[in-house]
Amino acid sequence: ADARLSEADILADPVAKIESAGGTRHPSIPLPAELFGAERRNSRGLDLGDRVVLEDTRAAVNRPMTEPAPAPTVDVAAAVARARAAFPAWQTTSVEGRAACLDRLADLLERDRDRLMAICVQEAFKTIPDAIGEVREAADFCRYYAARARATLGSVELPGPTGERNTLHLEGRGVWATIAPWNFPLAIFLGQTVAALVTGNTVVAKPAPQTPRIAAAAVALAHEAGVPRDALVLVPGGPEVGAALVGDARVQGVAFTGSTATARSIARALLADDDRPIVPLIAETGGINAMIVDSTALPEQVVADVVTSAFRSAGQRCSALRLLLVQEDIAEGLIEMLAGAMDLLTLGEAGDPRTDVGPVIDRAAYDRLMAYREQARARWVKTVAAPAEGLFVPPTLIRLDSVEALDREWFGPLLHVATWKAGALEETIARVNAKGYGLTMGLHSRIARAAEVTEAAAAVGNLYINRSMIGAVVGSQPFGGEGLSGTGPKAGGPLYLYRFCAERAVSVDT
Ligand code: GLU
Repeated sequence: ADARLSEADILADPVAKIESAGGTRHPSIPLPAELFGAERRNSRGLDLGDRVVLEDTRAAVNRPMTEPAPAPTVDVAAAVARARAAFPAWQTTSVEGRAACLDRLADLLERDRDRLMAICVQEAFKTIPDAIGEVREAADFCRYYAARARATLGSVELPGPTGERNTLHLEGRGVWATIAPWNFPLAIFLGQTVAALVTGNTVVAKPAPQTPRIAAAAVALAHEAGVPRDALVLVPGGPEVGAALVGDARVQGVAFTGSTATARSIARALLADDDRPIVPLIAETGGINAMIVDSTALPEQVVADVVTSAFRSAGQRCSALRLLLVQEDIAEGLIEMLAGAMDLLTLGEAGDPRTDVGPVIDRAAYDRLMAYREQARARWVKTVAAPAEGLFVPPTLIRLDSVEALDREWFGPLLHVATWKAGALEETIARVNAKGYGLTMGLHSRIARAAEVTEAAAAVGNLYINRSMIGAVVGSQPFGGEGLSGTGPKAGGPLYLYRFCAERAVSVDT
């Protein structure tokens, strides 16, 4: 993804170009070759990636928003009852029938790409490249889980002695609650939901309160694709809707992406009632993600990957880099280059193709991040100017004295930097592990042994070596963490669907 491309390459393959600018690689949506862009370099000749935006897409995402927000749910119990009633028929629909719905949904997402991108930009303040990535990833989840379902679900014959027939059936469990975050309001919302559906479950889906429109659009497309109306019921609303949903004893499983604290409260709610079945919780939560850089790393590449990992999406990815750990010997020079690169970031409205860093999601997030940033003022190494109006948190680099000094996730474009001494790679990894989170980690090094050591020692779900730490690709980089970062199984991975299934083994003496 870091290779420089010529103009001809760009015109021939705009998707590759977007990847080279740090975008995700979701090959499902072909883009027309009509592009505009401007190359930028800083004074050191450091390439921060070109901008590639389609004119028609630009126009589409800047249309006035016409989607009405769906009304918040008042009757969660009725929604669960509908999904419960729809379960037997959906459960007995063939795996092929369910998988075909997901493939059709992927086609519909692509058909409506511009409209969906527009909602992502307007409702979630996604930048245009992020909005492209969002629709692609949603379609990729649909196609990937459809393919996995065809390959793995249904009935499997198992060995046994002569005269005995053993079969394992993988079936839906019942009603699943899927609870989605605002930062991937289409991709994760749909990924969790279609995984539950294709395995034969019916779903009551709760979007984040900040992003109900994109969820409503996704659910309407799922129904258009053939998912029965009551097999997928949308329940927009805030924490009270979520609490009522996970507190409903008819819910047979929960797939959640969001904060560690909310995951814990869901786990408690699921266990609160002694009469309730013990049901699975798939939680994908936050991280205090570190990137470790040693003195052999290529500084230009490190800087480009740090900028992408920490500031793209305004740092509002749970995969984002929070703690940059640089070997002492090169720290000063690297920080200076990073500061130069930060100067080239453009803060602006999400739908403006020049924007690198858009606004954060809402006033509460803005106030929280700005208060912390202010409190850290004495330790600022670098910050950048932001537009006076709007929810723009200026990307800021904050110096720390130790790995331990960062003890929580700040979900925005605030990056911390500390140093480590030559020879202390393993110790540094151990100190990061000791935080208890385990989502992403990065390493930049040209020493093969350093990569081996890190691979063996890093207690994370996603380790990225000599590249950026964001943008996991469905089917290639199954995504999700361990410890305080979540339960697994990993989204977009080969094992994900199994957790949604009831396993029933049947033995017949023939
Ligand atoms: N899968 C996303 C990535 O790799 C992050 C998902 C999240 O923020 O929840 O960047």
